[in-house]
Formats: sequence, C-alpha cells, structure tokens
Amino acid sequence: MHLKRLELNGFKSFAHKSEFVFDVPIIAIVGPNGSGKSNVVEAIRFVLGEQSVKSMRGKTGADLIFKGSREIPKMSRASVSIVFDNIDRVFHLHQDNNNRINVDFDEVVITREVYSDGSNKYLINGNEVRMKDVHELIASVNIGASGHHIISQGEADRYLNANVKDRRELIEEALGLKVYQYRIKESERKLQRAEDNMRESELLRRELAPHIRFLKRQVDKIEKAKHLRIELMSQYQVYFAQEDYLRRKLGSDLDIEREQVQKEYAEVQRFIDNYGDSNETDVFPEELEIKKAQNQINEINRKITSERQELGRIEGMISLLEKQQRDAQSNNNTQIETTHPGFSFEVVREFLTDLLTQIDLMGVSTRITFGTIKKSIEDFIKTPVSEIQTESRQIDNTKEISVLENSKVSIQKTISEFQLIIDSTEVSIKHWEESLHEKRAQYQESQKQYYEYVAKKKELDARRQIIMSRDESLGLRSNARNEEYTEAKVLLGVDSIEYQSIAVEHELEITAQTQEQLRREIERIKIRLEDIGGGSGVELIKEYEETMERDQFLEKEITDISTSIESLQSIISELKESLNAQFDIGVQKINNEFDRFFKLMFGGGKAQLNPAEIKKRKKKSNQEDQLNIIDELEEEESTEYGIDINVQLPRKKVSDLDMLSGGERSLTSIALLFALSQVNPPPFLVLDETDAALDEANSQRYGDMVESLSKYSQLVVVTHNRETMSRAQTLFGVTLGRNDASTTLSLRLEDAKKYAK
Ligand code: ATP
Repeated sequence: MHLKRLELNGFKSFAHKSEFVFDVPIIAIVGPNGSGKSNVVEAIRFVLGEQSVKSMRGKTGADLIFKGSREIPKMSRASVSIVFDNIDRVFHLHQDNNNRINVDFDEVVITREVYSDGSNKYLINGNEVRMKDVHELIASVNIGASGHHIISQGEADRYLNANVKDRRELIEEALGLKVYQYRIKESERKLQRAEDNMRESELLRRELAPHIRFLKRQVDKIEKAKHLRIELMSQYQVYFAQEDYLRRKLGSDLDIEREQVQKEYAEVQRFIDNYGDSNETDVFPEELEIKKAQNQINEINRKITSERQELGRIEGMISLLEKQQRDAQSNNNTQIETTHPGFSFEVVREFLTDLLTQIDLMGVSTRITFGTIKKSIEDFIKTPVSEIQTESRQIDNTKEISVLENSKVSIQKTISEFQLIIDSTEVSIKHWEESLHEKRAQYQESQKQYYEYVAKKKELDARRQIIMSRDESLGLRSNARNEEYTEAKVLLGVDSIEYQSIAVEHELEITAQTQEQLRREIERIKIRLEDIGGGSGVELIKEYEETMERDQFLEKEITDISTSIESLQSIISELKESLNAQFDIGVQKINNEFDRFFKLMFGGGKAQLNPAEIKKRKKKSNQEDQLNIIDELEEEESTEYGIDINVQLPRKKVSDLDMLSGGERSLTSIALLFALSQVNPPPFLVLDETDAALDEANSQRYGDMVESLSKYSQLVVVTHNRETMSRAQTLFGVTLGRNDASTTLSLRLEDAKKYAK
C-alpha cells in the first residue's frame, strides 16, 4: 500500500485544483519560503481527519479555505482528496447499520471538505461518511490522524519536548500500540459508563427500597385482608346458616308455646266466665233464717223479760196482799191503803189490761194456756173498784191472792213455753249455722279457685305479652339478619353469600347467645379488615409487582453490570498487560535502532529510552462521592511509567536533553524518529523540513537514513536541503504565483537532479 495522489482544491494557498502524484518511494516538495509547501503537509493531515485546526495553523475551519487574492476571489469550500493504492486490500472498514461503505477496490479515495461555516464533509470513494469512519479506515493501515508519520515543520523534536507521559503516548502511537490505548480508553469509558450505570442502578434501587418496603407492607395487608375476607365469608356462611336455623326453631317454639298458652287461656277464660254465672251472690238463705230466728229469740227473750217483770210484780202483789191480809186480820184494811200509798186498784187494772194485750200478741198455744188467766183478769178488770175495796175491807184478800197465784203460775208456764220455743229455735239456728259454715267453706274454696284462675289468667296474659314481644323480636331479628346479609354482601363484594349448603352442626347448642358470640367474632374480623383498609388492592398489587419487577430488573442489571465491570476490568488489565509487554518489546527494539541511528548521526555516543516512574494520586471513587461527601483522605496512589530519553554524546559529558545544541537536538530527534519508523514502519512518512538544522555532513547521513527508511515507508519530504532533494525520485516544486495562489510543478528524478545542481 502506498500514497498514490493528493488533490487540493481551495485549500489554503491552493486556490485551484492541484494534484500531487506520489508514485515513487521518495517524494520531495520544494519551493521558496511561503510558497505553500507546509500547506501540502497540512492538507495531508486535514484529509486524514485532523481535528486540531491549530495544528494546521488556523483558528477556524474557514482559515483552511483559500482566502482570495487580488485576482482570485475567496473560496467557500476547501477540498482535499488523498488516493491510496489498495491492490492488496489492506484497508478495512467495519460494516454496521450506519455504515455500508465498500472499500473493496484497488484504490481508496478519502476526501474531506470544509465550508466557510466550519462544517466538514467526509467521503470515502465518493460516499459521504462519518469522520469516525475515516479514522477507522486509516487506523486499519497504521496511519493516525495526527500520527507520528507526519512530522510538521519544527515538530521533529516533539519527542524531545514532550514530557515523560506524553512521550510514552507518542512512542506507543509510533509503535502502533495506539490501538491498545484506544481500546483501553474505550474499555475505561465503558467501565466508567458501567460504573455510572451501576451507581445509578444502585441509587435507583436504594430509592426504590423504601417504596418496595411500603408496598410490601400494603400488599401484606392486602394478603391479610384477603385471608380475613375468606375467614369472614366462612364465618358469615356459618352464621347465616345457623341464624336461619335458629329463627326457624325460635319461630316454631313460639308457635307451640303460643298454641299452648292460647289453649290454657281459653280454659281459664271459660272457667272464669262460668264462675261468674254460678257465683253471682254470696248471701246464703241460712243467714236470713238465722237472723230471723235470732230476732224471734230476741223477741221471745224480751217477752220473757216482760213476763218475768210481770211475775215479779204479781209476786210483789201477792206478798202485798198477803201482808194486807195479815195486817187486816190483825188491824184494819185502811191501814193497808195508807201504808201503801202507791198501790191502787187502778194501777192493778192498768197492769192487767197491758198483760191482756201481751197475751193477745203471744202465739196460739200461749194464748190457750193463758185462757183462764185472761178470763179472770178480764173479770177483775170489769169489777168496779169500790166493790173490790169494799169487798176487801169486808173480806180478806185470799181470792185475789189466788188469782194472782194463778197468774203467776200462768206466767211461769208462759215463760217456760217461751224457753222451749227459744231452745227449739236455737237448735234450728245451730243447724243453719252448720249448713252456712259448710256453704261458706265451699264458697271460699271456689273463690280461691277463682282467684287462682284469675291469677293464672294474668300469668297467661303476661305470657301472651312475652310471646308477642318474642314474636316482635323475632321479626326484628329477621330484619337485622336481612340488613346483616346486605352489609355482608357489600363488605365481601359478592352478589350473594352461598350458605344454604352449609351443614348446621350441633344444632342443640345453637342459641341466641352462641349467635351473638359468632356475631361478635364477625365484628372483630370486620374491625380488623377496617383497620387494614378497604379496596381490593388490585392497583397496589400491580404496582408492587411492577416495582418488584423493576427492582429485580435493576438487581439483574447490577449483576450484569458487575459482571461486565469485572470483565471490562480484566479486559483493561489484559490490554494494559499486552500494551506494556508489547511496549517493552517495542521500546527495546526502538532502543536498538535509536542507539544505532544516534551513533550514526553523532559518530558514537549512546542513546536510550528509559522508563520513568510517574506517581499518580487519584481520589477514590466511592458511594459517598455521589452524595458529594468527598473524603480528602480517600486517595489512591497509582504508579505509571513514562519514558525518559537518555543520551550520551561522544566525547561529551552531556546527558541532559536541555543542554544539547539546536543541531544536536535535531539530530537526536531525527535519530529517534527514524528509529521509530524503522521499528514500526508506517505506509508513508511526511517530514516537513526535519533536516533544516543539519550541516552538510549530517545532511548526508540524513539522506542515507531517508533512503534506508524508504525501503519500508514511502517518504514525502519538504525540504530546502539539496542533499535530501537528491535522494528523491520525484520533486514537486511549489511556487506562489502572481495571483497569490500556490502552483505546483512536478519534476522527475533526472530533472530533479538537474534542478538540484
Ligand atoms: P517555508 O519554506 O518558509 O516554510 P512554505 O512553502 O512552507 O514556506 P507555507 O507555510 O506552506 O509556506 O505557506 C504559507 C503561505 O500560505 C503564506 O504566504 C500564507 O499567506 C498562505 N496562506 C495560508 N493560508 C492561506 C489561505 N487561507 N488563503 C490564502 N493563502 C494562504
């Protein structure tokens, strides 16, 4: 593979299309100062994708476009194309969805255009591509965009000027190990990204954790609520089944009892009704009889008393008469009258008239008994008092006494007859009283029974009342059950609670109390459910599952990232190991060549590249960093190795680069440049006035080295050095025309030699 052509159009001083054909191993670009030679070198840099406008001596992309002259207007676009030979198909371009560029051609043409606005366009074989594609394409043939193969003017000693670290990088690039650096950098970028992702995922997971814990608690609650709902359902089923059973039982018990009470009530009522009919009065005939008889006895007793009084009076009269008689017999009758002034026949007559009235009032038998007495009394009464008195005075009182005696007897008889009546009446009374007592006992007995029935009726009334209230509460119980059933359905979110098929166990033990206990148990479950909170939680469970899924995804991602981090770390360390190993080998080879070229240039001495230790302090990246808590003590110390250049000039004790003369510095640089090119020859090498500082003898040596290098790499040298020019097979003369634009002129070897002389 080699450079075939270079075409410039509007690039810097090359206003018009200029072509450089590179068909020989050594090409020299020559011309006066300011003619545009270095512009050619920069055009090569440009077309190969150089991104630093500064390295092409411009400030903006527009500085790369021909700015115009008195004769030629300024351009709006600069274009450079470079043509490589690809007969050996050395160019490769990774094919992907964004890139379908075919480089399977004998020539590979890379074109870059820049516009006034600074925008760029890249083409490979006429197809527009990304800058990245150009970089990749040239990297496949060991050419870097700003690589070691293009040494711009005054840049030859850049290896010497660079610090140990940059120098190592330059050397790595020259050794073609840049690809390792790219891959390491790429892997480190990936590692960084992976670590960032890891941190991000871990952070997300940490952020998710409390939410998951919260959701988990909620889901646990929902699960608990689910179980509680199942438990509630089964309790409800048992409850309603038992409740139906209990209500039926209570209903039928109540019916039986009601019937019983009704029956008893009817019986009691019947008794009470009948009792009323047969026991309307509590007055007995015996009582009337007794009262009548007692009245009679009282009457008779009164009569007896009266008779006795009469008897007493008669006895008094008798004793008076007897006394009168005795007195008359002994004195006279008038004394009697004076002795007894209260006594007179009128009084006696009055008394006897009363007695007759009494006798008339007496019963028939008494009247008969008193018949004779009555006659005598009537006769006595009818007799005139003068007669009686005369008679008395004339006769004694024997007759009167006798009459009175008779009356006395009669009265006594009457009294005893009265007594008989009383006795017989008392016997009757006794009988009646006995009968009355018996009747009263019977009456009391039936009264007692009656009141017992009344009491029973009251009791039955109370029972009826109780039955009614029980009936009522049974109704209320049914209502309550219906309400409970509705509530249960709402609570459980079902259309119905199937409990009809539930077998009621231990029927005898089911009571209102056991139901109440069950209801309380149900209430307890309901309260627990209420505490947990309502809702089916479908949304929450979904959210929990999604969050868990996300967490698991993150967990897996963290595992994957961790695996990829491990693998990247091992790739990086492998790459570093390979890089170091190859670098060491490369440096060894370079050292051989460097020393050889150095000796060649200086006619002796020693030159060597040596590793130089670089201590690096790096803040440890830990989780706290994310929280902006940076612990100053958390630092990592790592050791890297850069490259030192040690030279030993012949016959001089100088080993410090800074102490070299300009020429010595240039020679050392060239020795190193050539050593590098020798170890890893690039397809072409562009050297812009690298030989500027060389004296004639050194120019000779330089020319020799250029020739020897051209065996491995095509050489494009910009030079004012005639010795160097003489080694070229083609010379391109660049001049600045009258129109202030660069023009080219190609000279073949022979002509060149002529030109050189
Ligand atoms: P030397 O031998 O002194 O190194 P040289 O041949 O390498 O000179 P260059 O440095 O390549 O010369 O060219 C510089 C010339 O290019 C300057 O005259 C400069 O004015 C001209 N130039 C640079 N950029 C532009 C541009 N954008 N438009 C026109 N001319 C430009």
